Amino acid sequence: MWDFSTEPEFEQQLQWMREFTRAEVAPLDLVWPHHHHKAPAPWLKKVIDPLKQEVRARGLWACHLGPELGGRGFGQVQLSLMNEIISPFQWGPTIFGVQGPDTGNAEIIAHYGTPDQRQRYLEPLLNGEIFSAFSMTEPQGGADPLGFECSAARDGTDWVINGRKFFTSNSEEAAFLVVMAVTDPDVEPHRRMSMFLVPRDTPGIEVTRRTQYMNEPPEAMDHALLTYDNVRVGADGLLGEPGQGFEIAQTRLSGGRIHHAMRAVGQAQYALDMACERVQSRTLRGRPLAHQPLVQQAITESYAQVEQFRLFVLRTAWRIDQGDGYTPAVRRDIAVAKVLSAQVAHDVTRRAMHLHGALGLSNEMPFGGLWSLAPGYAIWDGPTESHLSSAARLILRDHEPSVDDLPSQWLPRRVDAARARFSEALAEQEAYEGAP
Ligand SMILES: Cc1cc2nc3c(=O)[nH]c(=O)nc-3n(C[C@H](O)[C@H](O)[C@H](O)COP(=O)(O)OP(=O)(O)OC[C@H]3O[C@@H](n4cnc5c(N)ncnc54)[C@H](O)[C@@H]3O)c2cc1C
Repeated sequence: MWDFSTEPEFEQQLQWMREFTRAEVAPLDLVWPHHHHKAPAPWLKKVIDPLKQEVRARGLWACHLGPELGGRGFGQVQLSLMNEIISPFQWGPTIFGVQGPDTGNAEIIAHYGTPDQRQRYLEPLLNGEIFSAFSMTEPQGGADPLGFECSAARDGTDWVINGRKFFTSNSEEAAFLVVMAVTDPDVEPHRRMSMFLVPRDTPGIEVTRRTQYMNEPPEAMDHALLTYDNVRVGADGLLGEPGQGFEIAQTRLSGGRIHHAMRAVGQAQYALDMACERVQSRTLRGRPLAHQPLVQQAITESYAQVEQFRLFVLRTAWRIDQGDGYTPAVRRDIAVAKVLSAQVAHDVTRRAMHLHGALGLSNEMPFGGLWSLAPGYAIWDGPTESHLSSAARLILRDHEPSVDDLPSQWLPRRVDAARARFSEALAEQEAYEGAP
Protein backbone atom coordinates (compact mmCIF):
# COMPACT_ATOMS: atom_id res chain seq x y z
CA MET A 1 0.00 0.00 0.00
CA TRP A 2 1.16 3.54 -0.63
CA ASP A 3 -0.48 6.90 -0.62
CA PHE A 4 1.66 9.99 -0.53
CA SER A 5 1.59 13.44 -2.02
CA THR A 6 3.08 16.86 -1.27
CA GLU A 7 0.83 19.35 0.47
CA PRO A 8 0.52 22.67 -1.43
CA GLU A 9 2.05 24.68 1.46
CA PHE A 10 5.05 22.39 1.60
CA GLU A 11 5.39 22.44 -2.19
CA GLN A 12 5.70 26.23 -1.89
CA GLN A 13 8.56 25.73 0.58
CA LEU A 14 10.24 23.31 -1.83
CA GLN A 15 9.84 25.77 -4.68
CA TRP A 16 11.43 28.48 -2.53
CA MET A 17 14.29 26.06 -1.74
CA ARG A 18 14.85 25.34 -5.45
CA GLU A 19 15.13 29.03 -6.26
CA PHE A 20 17.17 29.87 -3.16
CA THR A 21 19.71 27.07 -3.68
CA ARG A 22 20.21 27.96 -7.34
CA ALA A 23 20.52 31.70 -6.70
CA GLU A 24 22.27 31.86 -3.32
CA VAL A 25 23.90 28.51 -2.50
CA ALA A 26 25.32 27.40 -5.87
CA PRO A 27 27.65 30.46 -6.14
CA LEU A 28 29.27 29.60 -2.77
CA ASP A 29 30.52 26.30 -4.26
CA LEU A 30 32.19 28.24 -7.06
CA VAL A 31 34.03 30.71 -4.85
CA TRP A 32 34.64 28.74 -1.63
CA PRO A 33 34.56 25.04 -2.49
CA HIS A 34 35.59 22.74 0.38
CA HIS A 35 34.85 25.33 3.09
CA HIS A 36 31.31 24.27 3.94
CA HIS A 37 32.46 22.04 6.82
CA LYS A 38 34.70 24.60 8.54
CA ALA A 39 34.10 27.21 11.21
CA PRO A 40 33.79 30.20 8.86
CA ALA A 41 36.34 33.02 8.74
CA PRO A 42 34.85 36.48 9.49
CA TRP A 43 34.47 37.46 5.81
CA LEU A 44 32.69 34.19 5.07
CA LYS A 45 30.44 34.54 8.12
CA LYS A 46 29.21 37.82 6.68
CA VAL A 47 28.16 36.00 3.54
CA ILE A 48 26.68 32.80 4.97
CA ASP A 49 25.05 33.96 8.22
CA PRO A 50 22.35 35.98 6.39
CA LEU A 51 21.63 32.94 4.20
CA LYS A 52 21.26 30.71 7.25
CA GLN A 53 19.02 33.38 8.73
CA GLU A 54 16.78 33.29 5.66
CA VAL A 55 16.52 29.51 5.99
CA ARG A 56 15.61 29.89 9.69
CA ALA A 57 13.01 32.53 8.87
CA ARG A 58 11.36 30.07 6.44
CA GLY A 59 11.28 27.45 9.23
CA LEU A 60 13.58 25.16 7.26
CA TRP A 61 16.69 25.16 9.47
CA ALA A 62 17.98 21.83 10.89
CA CYS A 63 14.73 19.99 10.23
CA HIS A 64 16.12 16.49 10.62
CA LEU A 65 15.09 15.79 14.23
CA GLY A 66 11.72 14.20 14.88
CA PRO A 67 9.22 15.96 17.21
CA GLU A 68 9.93 13.43 19.97
CA LEU A 69 13.55 14.67 19.89
CA GLY A 70 12.62 18.34 19.99
CA GLY A 71 12.72 18.84 16.21
CA ARG A 72 10.14 20.34 13.87
CA GLY A 73 8.58 17.02 13.08
CA PHE A 74 9.03 16.97 9.35
CA GLY A 75 8.45 13.40 8.25
CA GLN A 76 10.92 11.41 6.17
CA VAL A 77 9.06 12.15 2.92
CA GLN A 78 9.42 15.89 3.47
CA LEU A 79 13.04 15.54 4.57
CA SER A 80 13.77 13.40 1.51
CA LEU A 81 12.33 16.02 -0.82
CA MET A 82 14.45 18.68 0.88
CA ASN A 83 17.60 16.56 0.66
CA GLU A 84 17.00 16.05 -3.04
CA ILE A 85 17.05 19.83 -3.60
CA ILE A 86 20.10 20.72 -1.53
CA SER A 87 22.27 17.76 -2.52
CA PRO A 88 23.86 18.98 -5.76
CA PHE A 89 25.56 21.75 -3.79
CA GLN A 90 28.46 21.27 -1.37
CA TRP A 91 27.20 24.17 0.71
CA GLY A 92 23.53 23.08 0.60
CA PRO A 93 23.45 20.94 3.74
CA THR A 94 25.48 23.49 5.76
CA ILE A 95 23.25 26.42 4.83
CA PHE A 96 20.20 24.32 5.82
CA GLY A 97 21.86 23.01 9.04
CA VAL A 98 21.75 19.34 7.93
CA GLN A 99 25.39 18.55 7.15
CA GLY A 100 26.86 15.16 7.90
CA PRO A 101 28.18 13.77 10.11
CA ASP A 102 26.54 16.33 12.42
CA THR A 103 22.94 15.32 11.61
CA GLY A 104 23.48 11.71 12.68
CA ASN A 105 25.41 12.80 15.76
CA ALA A 106 22.67 15.26 16.71
CA GLU A 107 20.08 12.52 16.29
CA ILE A 108 21.78 10.12 18.69
CA ILE A 109 22.56 12.79 21.29
CA ALA A 110 18.93 13.93 21.17
CA HIS A 111 17.85 10.30 21.50
CA TYR A 112 20.29 8.95 24.10
CA GLY A 113 21.93 12.04 25.66
CA THR A 114 21.49 13.29 29.22
CA PRO A 115 20.15 16.85 29.67
CA ASP A 116 23.76 17.98 30.30
CA GLN A 117 25.06 16.30 27.14
CA ARG A 118 22.25 17.82 25.12
CA GLN A 119 23.03 21.27 26.45
CA ARG A 120 26.78 20.93 25.94
CA TYR A 121 26.82 19.29 22.50
CA LEU A 122 23.41 19.22 20.87
CA GLU A 123 22.40 22.86 21.19
CA PRO A 124 25.57 24.35 19.64
CA LEU A 125 25.50 21.61 16.99
CA LEU A 126 21.93 22.43 16.00
CA ASN A 127 22.72 26.14 16.06
CA GLY A 128 25.51 25.54 13.56
CA GLU A 129 28.09 26.92 16.02
CA ILE A 130 30.24 23.78 16.13
CA PHE A 131 30.99 20.71 13.99
CA SER A 132 31.42 17.10 15.11
CA ALA A 133 32.88 13.80 13.88
CA PHE A 134 31.93 10.14 14.12
CA SER A 135 34.72 7.68 14.90
CA MET A 136 33.62 4.10 14.32
CA THR A 137 35.49 2.47 11.40
CA GLU A 138 38.82 0.84 12.28
CA PRO A 139 41.82 0.24 10.02
CA GLN A 140 41.91 -3.53 10.58
CA GLY A 141 38.19 -4.19 11.06
CA GLY A 142 36.36 -1.76 8.81
CA ALA A 143 32.84 -1.32 10.09
CA ASP A 144 32.51 -4.95 11.15
CA PRO A 145 31.60 -4.97 14.87
CA LEU A 146 33.37 -8.32 15.29
CA GLY A 147 36.64 -6.76 14.17
CA PHE A 148 36.67 -3.74 16.51
CA GLU A 149 39.67 -3.42 18.82
CA CYS A 150 39.56 0.18 20.04
CA SER A 151 38.57 -0.19 23.69
CA ALA A 152 37.45 1.88 26.65
CA ALA A 153 38.29 0.67 30.14
CA ARG A 154 36.91 1.96 33.41
CA ASP A 155 39.32 3.77 35.72
CA GLY A 156 37.39 4.87 38.79
CA THR A 157 34.47 6.83 37.38
CA ASP A 158 36.44 7.71 34.21
CA TRP A 159 36.77 5.80 30.95
CA VAL A 160 40.15 5.46 29.21
CA ILE A 161 40.05 4.93 25.42
CA ASN A 162 42.88 3.21 23.51
CA GLY A 163 42.98 2.20 19.85
CA ARG A 164 42.82 3.46 16.27
CA LYS A 165 39.97 4.69 14.12
CA PHE A 166 40.06 5.14 10.33
CA PHE A 167 38.25 7.58 8.05
CA THR A 168 36.92 9.80 10.81
CA SER A 169 35.46 12.54 8.60
CA ASN A 170 36.07 16.16 9.56
CA SER A 171 38.20 15.26 12.58
CA GLU A 172 40.15 18.51 12.13
CA GLU A 173 37.21 20.86 12.42
CA ALA A 174 35.19 18.85 14.93
CA ALA A 175 34.67 20.27 18.41
CA PHE A 176 33.95 16.75 19.67
CA LEU A 177 34.10 13.16 18.45
CA VAL A 178 31.51 10.43 18.88
CA VAL A 179 33.68 7.36 19.52
CA MET A 180 32.55 3.74 19.50
CA ALA A 181 34.75 1.53 21.69
CA VAL A 182 34.70 -2.02 23.04
CA THR A 183 33.81 -1.96 26.72
CA ASP A 184 33.08 -5.64 27.30
CA PRO A 185 34.79 -8.07 24.87
CA ASP A 186 33.31 -11.16 26.58
CA VAL A 187 29.61 -10.60 25.89
CA GLU A 188 27.75 -11.27 22.64
CA PRO A 189 29.07 -9.07 19.78
CA HIS A 190 26.24 -6.54 19.66
CA ARG A 191 26.60 -5.72 23.37
CA ARG A 192 30.39 -5.31 23.35
CA MET A 193 30.60 -1.65 22.36
CA SER A 194 29.69 1.62 24.02
CA MET A 195 29.50 5.14 22.59
CA PHE A 196 31.43 8.12 23.98
CA LEU A 197 31.33 11.88 23.47
CA VAL A 198 34.94 13.08 23.51
CA PRO A 199 35.97 16.74 23.23
CA ARG A 200 38.42 17.04 20.32
CA ASP A 201 41.09 18.74 22.44
CA THR A 202 41.24 15.88 24.97
CA PRO A 203 44.92 14.89 25.41
CA GLY A 204 45.88 11.66 23.62
CA ILE A 205 43.95 12.11 20.34
CA GLU A 206 46.52 12.11 17.55
CA VAL A 207 46.19 12.32 13.79
CA THR A 208 48.28 9.42 12.49
CA ARG A 209 47.43 10.13 8.85
CA ARG A 210 45.39 12.86 7.26
CA THR A 211 43.58 10.88 4.55
CA GLN A 212 41.41 12.57 1.95
CA TYR A 213 38.70 11.54 -0.47
CA MET A 214 39.98 10.73 -3.98
CA ASN A 215 42.00 13.63 -5.36
CA GLU A 216 40.42 16.36 -3.32
CA PRO A 217 42.71 19.28 -2.43
CA PRO A 218 44.25 19.68 1.04
CA GLU A 219 41.63 22.22 2.14
CA ALA A 220 38.86 19.65 1.59
CA MET A 221 37.42 17.65 4.46
CA ASP A 222 39.86 15.21 6.09
CA HIS A 223 39.01 11.56 6.74
CA ALA A 224 41.71 10.83 9.26
CA LEU A 225 43.35 7.81 10.77
CA LEU A 226 43.26 8.73 14.46
CA THR A 227 45.11 7.18 17.37
CA TYR A 228 43.45 7.27 20.80
CA ASP A 229 46.25 6.95 23.32
CA ASN A 230 44.95 6.83 26.90
CA VAL A 231 42.19 9.30 26.10
CA ARG A 232 40.38 9.94 29.35
CA VAL A 233 36.72 10.95 29.58
CA GLY A 234 34.59 11.31 32.67
CA ALA A 235 31.44 9.29 33.37
CA ASP A 236 29.53 12.08 31.63
CA GLY A 237 31.30 11.15 28.38
CA LEU A 238 29.33 7.91 28.04
CA LEU A 239 26.37 8.23 25.66
CA GLY A 240 23.50 5.95 26.64
CA GLU A 241 24.26 2.82 28.64
CA PRO A 242 27.40 0.65 28.59
CA GLY A 243 26.93 -1.94 25.82
CA GLN A 244 24.48 0.22 23.85
CA GLY A 245 27.02 1.34 21.22
CA PHE A 246 25.85 -0.95 18.43
CA GLU A 247 22.20 -0.03 18.92
CA ILE A 248 23.09 3.67 18.91
CA ALA A 249 25.14 3.26 15.71
CA GLN A 250 22.18 1.54 14.03
CA THR A 251 19.83 4.35 15.06
CA ARG A 252 22.28 6.81 13.57
CA LEU A 253 22.81 5.01 10.30
CA SER A 254 19.23 4.03 9.44
CA GLY A 255 17.87 7.56 9.07
CA GLY A 256 21.10 8.77 7.46
CA ARG A 257 20.97 6.13 4.73
CA ILE A 258 17.59 7.26 3.45
CA HIS A 259 18.82 10.88 3.41
CA HIS A 260 21.96 9.84 1.52
CA ALA A 261 19.82 7.93 -0.99
CA MET A 262 17.73 11.02 -1.72
CA ARG A 263 20.93 13.03 -2.11
CA ALA A 264 21.99 10.50 -4.74
CA VAL A 265 18.64 11.11 -6.47
CA GLY A 266 19.27 14.87 -6.47
CA GLN A 267 22.77 14.46 -7.88
CA ALA A 268 21.62 12.05 -10.58
CA GLN A 269 18.80 14.41 -11.56
CA TYR A 270 21.31 17.27 -11.79
CA ALA A 271 23.48 15.18 -14.15
CA LEU A 272 20.41 14.21 -16.22
CA ASP A 273 19.29 17.84 -16.49
CA MET A 274 22.71 18.80 -17.82
CA ALA A 275 22.58 15.93 -20.33
CA CYS A 276 19.11 16.96 -21.54
CA GLU A 277 20.26 20.52 -22.14
CA ARG A 278 23.43 19.46 -23.93
CA VAL A 279 21.92 16.97 -26.36
CA GLN A 280 19.48 19.63 -27.54
CA SER A 281 22.17 22.29 -27.98
CA ARG A 282 25.04 20.33 -29.52
CA THR A 283 24.62 19.49 -33.19
CA LEU A 284 25.93 16.60 -35.22
CA ARG A 285 25.74 16.89 -39.02
CA GLY A 286 23.44 19.85 -38.65
CA ARG A 287 20.96 18.16 -36.30
CA PRO A 288 20.83 18.18 -32.50
CA LEU A 289 22.46 15.19 -30.80
CA ALA A 290 19.02 14.50 -29.34
CA HIS A 291 17.94 13.13 -32.76
CA GLN A 292 20.39 10.21 -32.52
CA PRO A 293 18.64 6.98 -31.45
CA LEU A 294 21.46 5.90 -29.11
CA VAL A 295 21.50 9.32 -27.49
CA GLN A 296 17.73 9.03 -27.02
CA GLN A 297 18.27 5.63 -25.43
CA ALA A 298 20.81 7.09 -22.98
CA ILE A 299 18.42 9.89 -21.99
CA THR A 300 15.45 7.55 -21.53
CA GLU A 301 17.43 4.98 -19.57
CA SER A 302 18.72 7.68 -17.22
CA TYR A 303 15.24 9.13 -16.79
CA ALA A 304 13.81 5.68 -16.04
CA GLN A 305 16.54 4.91 -13.48
CA VAL A 306 16.16 8.24 -11.68
CA GLU A 307 12.36 8.07 -11.57
CA GLN A 308 12.22 4.46 -10.34
CA PHE A 309 14.83 5.13 -7.71
CA ARG A 310 13.19 8.38 -6.59
CA LEU A 311 9.81 6.71 -6.13
CA PHE A 312 11.42 3.80 -4.31
CA VAL A 313 13.19 6.12 -1.85
CA LEU A 314 10.04 8.19 -1.32
CA ARG A 315 7.96 5.07 -0.70
CA THR A 316 10.53 3.89 1.85
CA ALA A 317 10.43 7.32 3.51
CA TRP A 318 6.63 7.18 3.50
CA ARG A 319 6.69 3.75 5.13
CA ILE A 320 8.87 5.14 7.94
CA ASP A 321 6.39 7.99 8.36
CA GLN A 322 3.52 5.54 8.79
CA GLY A 323 4.73 5.12 12.35
CA ASP A 324 6.03 1.62 11.85
CA GLY A 325 9.60 2.85 12.37
CA TYR A 326 12.39 0.64 11.17
CA THR A 327 10.41 -2.56 10.61
CA PRO A 328 12.03 -5.44 8.67
CA ALA A 329 10.29 -4.21 5.49
CA VAL A 330 11.70 -0.72 5.98
CA ARG A 331 15.19 -2.03 6.79
CA ARG A 332 15.03 -4.19 3.66
CA ASP A 333 14.16 -1.19 1.49
CA ILE A 334 16.75 1.08 3.09
CA ALA A 335 19.38 -1.56 2.27
CA VAL A 336 18.14 -1.74 -1.33
CA ALA A 337 18.11 2.08 -1.60
CA LYS A 338 21.71 2.09 -0.40
CA VAL A 339 22.67 -0.37 -3.16
CA LEU A 340 20.72 1.59 -5.80
CA SER A 341 22.35 4.90 -4.77
CA ALA A 342 25.72 3.77 -6.07
CA GLN A 343 24.30 2.19 -9.25
CA VAL A 344 22.09 5.11 -10.24
CA ALA A 345 24.69 7.77 -9.37
CA HIS A 346 27.23 5.85 -11.45
CA ASP A 347 25.08 5.10 -14.50
CA VAL A 348 23.37 8.48 -14.84
CA THR A 349 26.52 10.52 -14.21
CA ARG A 350 28.52 8.39 -16.65
CA ARG A 351 25.96 8.86 -19.44
CA ALA A 352 25.66 12.61 -18.83
CA MET A 353 29.43 13.05 -18.75
CA HIS A 354 29.84 10.95 -21.89
CA LEU A 355 27.20 12.94 -23.79
CA HIS A 356 29.23 16.09 -23.09
CA GLY A 357 32.29 14.62 -24.82
CA ALA A 358 35.64 16.16 -23.88
CA LEU A 359 33.93 19.08 -22.19
CA GLY A 360 32.26 16.59 -19.82
CA LEU A 361 35.66 15.23 -18.84
CA SER A 362 37.15 18.66 -18.30
CA ASN A 363 37.32 20.73 -15.13
CA GLU A 364 34.96 23.22 -16.77
CA MET A 365 31.90 21.11 -15.96
CA PRO A 366 30.76 19.84 -12.53
CA PHE A 367 31.00 16.16 -13.48
CA GLY A 368 34.35 15.45 -11.76
CA GLY A 369 32.81 16.01 -8.34
CA LEU A 370 29.65 14.03 -9.15
CA TRP A 371 31.62 11.17 -10.69
CA SER A 372 33.94 10.85 -7.70
CA LEU A 373 30.92 10.49 -5.40
CA ALA A 374 29.52 7.48 -7.29
CA PRO A 375 31.91 4.83 -5.87
CA GLY A 376 31.61 6.47 -2.44
CA TYR A 377 27.91 5.59 -2.25
CA ALA A 378 28.96 1.95 -2.47
CA ILE A 379 31.30 2.24 0.53
CA TRP A 380 30.23 4.80 3.14
CA ASP A 381 27.56 3.59 5.58
CA GLY A 382 28.75 0.03 4.77
CA PRO A 383 29.78 -1.64 1.50
CA THR A 384 27.22 -2.68 -1.11
CA GLU A 385 27.78 -6.38 -0.46
CA SER A 386 26.74 -6.18 3.18
CA HIS A 387 23.51 -4.38 2.16
CA LEU A 388 22.86 -6.91 -0.59
CA SER A 389 23.19 -9.66 2.02
CA SER A 390 20.97 -8.03 4.63
CA ALA A 391 18.35 -7.11 1.99
CA ALA A 392 18.35 -10.70 0.69
CA ARG A 393 17.87 -12.08 4.23
CA LEU A 394 14.91 -9.75 4.76
CA ILE A 395 13.40 -10.46 1.33
CA LEU A 396 13.67 -14.21 1.94
CA ARG A 397 11.87 -13.96 5.30
CA ASP A 398 8.64 -13.50 3.36
CA HIS A 399 9.14 -16.70 1.35
CA GLU A 400 9.02 -20.42 2.24
CA PRO A 401 11.11 -23.24 0.78
CA SER A 402 9.23 -25.73 -1.44
CA VAL A 403 7.76 -28.75 0.32
CA ASP A 404 9.93 -31.27 -1.57
CA ASP A 405 12.83 -31.24 -3.99
CA LEU A 406 10.71 -29.85 -6.85
CA PRO A 407 9.70 -26.17 -7.05
CA SER A 408 6.12 -25.38 -6.14
CA GLN A 409 5.68 -23.97 -9.66
CA TRP A 410 6.90 -27.20 -11.35
CA LEU A 411 4.52 -27.44 -14.31
CA PRO A 412 3.83 -31.23 -14.57
CA ARG A 413 2.47 -31.34 -11.02
CA ARG A 414 0.45 -28.16 -11.51
CA VAL A 415 -0.98 -29.47 -14.79
CA ASP A 416 -2.02 -32.73 -13.08
CA ALA A 417 -3.69 -30.78 -10.28
CA ALA A 418 -5.49 -28.47 -12.73
CA ARG A 419 -6.66 -31.42 -14.81
CA ALA A 420 -7.96 -33.18 -11.70
CA ARG A 421 -9.91 -30.04 -10.75
CA PHE A 422 -11.54 -29.77 -14.15
CA SER A 423 -11.90 -33.55 -14.70
CA GLU A 424 -15.65 -33.38 -15.31
CA ALA A 425 -15.34 -30.62 -17.93
CA LEU A 426 -12.38 -32.40 -19.50
CA ALA A 427 -14.41 -35.64 -19.77
CA GLU A 428 -17.24 -33.73 -21.48
CA GLN A 429 -14.74 -32.03 -23.80
CA GLU A 430 -13.26 -35.43 -24.69
CA ALA A 431 -16.68 -36.90 -25.42
CA TYR A 432 -17.66 -33.88 -27.51
CA GLU A 433 -14.44 -33.80 -29.50
CA GLY A 434 -14.52 -37.59 -29.94
CA ALA A 435 -18.14 -37.52 -31.25
CA PRO A 436 -18.51 -37.99 -35.01
C1 LIG B 1 33.85 9.44 2.18
C2 LIG B 1 33.79 8.51 3.35
C3 LIG B 1 33.53 9.03 4.60
C4 LIG B 1 33.52 8.17 5.72
N1 LIG B 1 33.32 8.74 6.95
C5 LIG B 1 33.36 7.95 8.04
C6 LIG B 1 33.23 8.52 9.35
O1 LIG B 1 33.04 9.73 9.50
N2 LIG B 1 33.33 7.72 10.42
C7 LIG B 1 33.54 6.38 10.30
O2 LIG B 1 33.60 5.70 11.31
N3 LIG B 1 33.69 5.80 9.08
C8 LIG B 1 33.61 6.56 7.96
N4 LIG B 1 33.79 5.99 6.71
C9 LIG B 1 34.14 4.60 6.63
C10 LIG B 1 33.03 3.71 6.12
O3 LIG B 1 32.04 3.53 7.09
C11 LIG B 1 33.73 2.38 5.76
O4 LIG B 1 34.61 2.67 4.69
C12 LIG B 1 32.75 1.32 5.34
O5 LIG B 1 31.98 0.92 6.42
C13 LIG B 1 33.48 0.10 4.77
O6 LIG B 1 34.52 -0.33 5.60
P1 LIG B 1 35.99 -0.48 4.99
O7 LIG B 1 36.36 0.77 4.31
O8 LIG B 1 36.89 -0.97 6.06
O9 LIG B 1 35.83 -1.59 3.88
P2 LIG B 1 35.99 -3.14 4.05
O10 LIG B 1 35.14 -3.58 5.20
O11 LIG B 1 37.45 -3.47 4.06
O12 LIG B 1 35.35 -3.63 2.71
C14 LIG B 1 36.11 -3.68 1.49
C15 LIG B 1 35.39 -4.57 0.53
O13 LIG B 1 35.26 -5.89 1.08
C16 LIG B 1 34.04 -6.47 0.65
N5 LIG B 1 33.16 -6.68 1.82
C17 LIG B 1 33.14 -6.00 2.99
N6 LIG B 1 32.15 -6.43 3.78
C18 LIG B 1 31.51 -7.40 3.09
C19 LIG B 1 30.39 -8.24 3.36
N7 LIG B 1 29.69 -8.14 4.52
N8 LIG B 1 30.02 -9.13 2.39
C20 LIG B 1 30.71 -9.23 1.23
N9 LIG B 1 31.76 -8.47 0.92
C21 LIG B 1 32.16 -7.56 1.84
C22 LIG B 1 33.41 -5.46 -0.28
O14 LIG B 1 33.84 -5.68 -1.61
C23 LIG B 1 33.97 -4.15 0.23
O15 LIG B 1 33.87 -3.08 -0.68
C24 LIG B 1 33.76 6.80 5.57
C25 LIG B 1 34.00 6.27 4.28
C26 LIG B 1 34.01 7.11 3.19
C27 LIG B 1 34.33 6.54 1.84
